Amino acid sequence: MTDASTGLGPSTALGPSTALGPSTALGTVTLVGAGPGDAGLLTLRGLRALQDADVIVADRLGARAVLARLADEGHTITAEVIDVGKLPGHHPVPQDGINQILVDLARQGRRVVRLKGGDPFVFGRGREEQLFCEAAGIPVEVVSGVTSAVAVPALAGIPLTQRGVAETFTVASAHDQIDALGGGRDHTIVLLMGVNTLGHSAHVLAAGPRGDECPVAIIEDGFGERQRVTIGTLGTIAHLAAARQVRSPAVVVIGDVVMLSPHASTVV
Ligand code: SAH
Repeated sequence: MTDASTGLGPSTALGPSTALGPSTALGTVTLVGAGPGDAGLLTLRGLRALQDADVIVADRLGARAVLARLADEGHTITAEVIDVGKLPGHHPVPQDGINQILVDLARQGRRVVRLKGGDPFVFGRGREEQLFCEAAGIPVEVVSGVTSAVAVPALAGIPLTQRGVAETFTVASAHDQIDALGGGRDHTIVLLMGVNTLGHSAHVLAAGPRGDECPVAIIEDGFGERQRVTIGTLGTIAHLAAARQVRSPAVVVIGDVVMLSPHASTVV
């Protein structure tokens, strides 16, 4: 080990750095949005952070796939990777545990990248992690990512806004307050984490101003091997999704913009 500050060369058992114990220099945490699963949709700043990292704390969804694809494309990432989404034989690490892992690693003086699917601040708990680390005195940088809420509909040729068709969009998780979402078919709704409760969401929204005939698209596993588009209406989509065994992860788009998709000719 070279002690650069003293210029004394390799430190010995009696050297000053040993007397001080382990290095007390704080590391850093960079929250990086991995994008929706395609390495091409990682930002350049995100890629640089990954290349500079000592350790990458990665989520299961999206993040691992992007790391694998970067390797396939010949990018060298030497950092240790800690998978907090799915450790072999373990359940996903709970959020408190992830926060603590980030702080512990940074306290070892390491450059930590926290790699999250899509954008870290869209249903990603990124801000919670940032605040936890900052409360522990660790500097945090945020590198935004391309959110699946926008990029996955685009795969199916669906824009979230279009002149004369929709001027507004709302990104929501499928929650109980879905009936409070205003607007009609010209107000696009994008549901994340919406597969399991799709029947309920469709039922509630159909009872409002959008009505039974409002177009709906489900795009499963965007950029992945199971990528598939299913198109129906608020009245038919739950049945269709069950018949086609639609599975998570999927983005659900509700509104007239769905009719702009080339897949819309297959509406049942
Ligand atoms: N922060 C992420 C969203 C996390 S919530 C982002 O900005 O994209 C996880 C949900 O995102 C999933 O349940 C699904 O609805 C959606 N999702 C993420 N990646 C996806 C993909 N490649 N294909 C389809 N849906 C995806």
